[in-house]
This record gives sequence, C-alpha cells and structure tokens, in this order.
Amino acid sequence: MKITVQPLQEQELKPLFQDASQLGFGRIFTDRMFTMRYQDKAWVEPTIEKYRNFSLDPSACVFHYAQEIFEGMKAYASEDGRILLFRPEQNVKRMNRSAERLVMPTIPEQDMLQAIAELVVAEKRWIPRAPGTSLYIRPTMIATEPFLGVHPSAEYLFYIILSPVGAYYKEGFKPVRLYVEDTFVRAAVGGVGDIKTGGNYAASLMAGYLAQQKGFSQVLWLDARERKYVEEVGAMNMFFVFGDKLVTPALTGSILPGITRASVLELAQYLGLATEERPVSIDEVIEGIANGEITEAFGSGTAAVISPVGSLFFKDKEYVINNNQVGPVTQKLYDKLVNIQYGKETDPFGWVK
Ligand code: PMP
Repeated sequence: MKITVQPLQEQELKPLFQDASQLGFGRIFTDRMFTMRYQDKAWVEPTIEKYRNFSLDPSACVFHYAQEIFEGMKAYASEDGRILLFRPEQNVKRMNRSAERLVMPTIPEQDMLQAIAELVVAEKRWIPRAPGTSLYIRPTMIATEPFLGVHPSAEYLFYIILSPVGAYYKEGFKPVRLYVEDTFVRAAVGGVGDIKTGGNYAASLMAGYLAQQKGFSQVLWLDARERKYVEEVGAMNMFFVFGDKLVTPALTGSILPGITRASVLELAQYLGLATEERPVSIDEVIEGIANGEITEAFGSGTAAVISPVGSLFFKDKEYVINNNQVGPVTQKLYDKLVNIQYGKETDPFGWVK
C-alpha cells in the first residue's frame, strides 16, 4: 500500500509533553494520524496527515446505530532506542474479526500493520521514555454513510490516533478491590462481547460508575444467562491461581479474547505452570478464597498488563485474597511480560516486533 504523507511545517507541531512521569491516559494526542476511506467497495486514500477534527454528516450511521470498532495496543521505547510493538498482528486480526461481526469491511492485515508502523515511526518523538510509559495506539473504524436506515453502511472511515500514556502503576503495583456485579451484565453469548465495539463499553458504564461510587475499582462481570460464571474484570480478562494451576474463564463467546490473556497463558506454560481454561463459577471462587485454594487473582489487559486483585465483594461480604498482597505468580508474570515488552529480556516467543 502506498501511503501519502502530508508534510507538516515545524511551526504546526504541538509542544511535546514536559514530564513523562505526569502523563495520564488518553488525553494528549500526537501531531499526525492515519486515515483511509472506504467507498464503492474499496479502501482509498491511505494518508498520514495532521491530527484534525472530522467533518461528518449528522445522519452518519455511527452516530445512530453505533457501527464502530476499535483496537488498543502500545509502542514501547527500549533502553537502547528501538521502537517495539507487542504482537501487533494479533490486534490486526482481532480488528478484522470485529469488522466481520458488524458487517464492516476488513483491511488486508499487511496494510493495517504498515499503517500502524509508518505512523508510529513518523511520530517517534512522542514515544515517552520514562519507566512504564508507552505510546498508546488506537485504530478505529466508523460507519460514515449519511442514512438513517438500520443497515450496514456503504461508507467507512478507518483512522489511527496515538497518545503518549503514563505508567499505569505510578504508586506501585497495588491490588484492587472488585465488586461482583450480579445485576447488570456486560455481554451475552451470541452478542458482541467478544469483539471490540463501542457499544460494549457504553453498556458497561452504569455498573462501573455505581461500583466506583461504592469505593470499588472495577466490576467483576458474571455471565448474562445465570449470573453464575465469572467472565471479565472491568475491561480486562480474569485469572486465578487455583491450587497449583493458573485458571481463567474459557472463551464462551461473550468474553473478549485478550491478547494479554493469550500471552499470560503461553508465558505461564513456558514457566512450567499448568493452565486451565474452563467455566469458573463465582461460588467456586468464593469457596476457593475462603478455604485458601485460591491464593492469587489478577486481571490482564493492554493498559495495566496485569492488575492484581486484593478482594472481591459479593452479596454484602468482602473476600480478601492473599492478605491483599501481590502474590509471587502475579509478580513473576507481570515482570516477565513487561520486560519482554520493553525489550529488557529475550523474547522466546517472537512477540515483540
Ligand atoms: N476485555 C475487554 C472488555 C477489553 O476491553 C480488553 C482491552 N482490550 C481486554 C479484555 C484485554 O484485552 P487485551 O489484552 O488484548 O488488551
């Protein structure tokens, strides 16, 4: 694919963030973005251009029926000055799976990878270098056809924006309190919980908001049919150290197949820890915490990599895991994954590109 690169004048560039240790998440964006339009059944005009507002017809499909998908991944600066991407081909494949589910056009994998790589290289001055910081990459596709009928749009806009983000654990690697949500659900089997579409996140806001008001960091989601099985934690996948195994809910169709999840499973096996993907009931989890069989729990996702869980609040009672301390398995998986992502440790899997 030939990407047109629009020149930017020196004076058009934004001032760089001053202190990378003060960066939050997703509020600052770089100078350039990638855009490409889909019309007459073809992707046209792949361009790296100045970051700007879009002008869209108010009737554009995306505003009404949420035909929208996105991805989330990161570029890391290694100490020796390389730019590293973590399993980008997996994000590209998942983006295309999301597209297919919402009857949106896919993008050739090589083209999407090229667009990500060329944009990141063009914006390399924006990759922060302080420990734990990275450049967040947000590929997005929206339906732009101006038409109020409920049908797949004939026109789309694909774009990629970049945001320098701070270290997730500024105050240290600390376990969080979870609220087990047994009223609201995130997604149902047969729905769209297993793809990255904005509607899933809109639907999750109320539960997250109420849990935070009660003093919890995140919601632990249960399945939609019975409120019996553990699904995800906030926007992360969930893991338990259960006896001598690392256990995570099986991908039933309502869980997002996290790339960190897949990597944690592979890494654990590589380190000699047995893993299991199976239905995990909340009753079994509560019992496992109470009788000491569950010794650690954590969430996994691109933003935090691994987020240790200190306790679960379920039906008016709090169940504390490992005395609210980070356990050895959680710590080891976190250290190894982060070291691989930042190129500090050899990558036996070929994940880093
Ligand atoms: N579940 C949900 C709902 C998410 O939004 C994310 C973040 N993409 C994850 C799990 C974790 O996925 P990944 O490891 O690919 O970031």
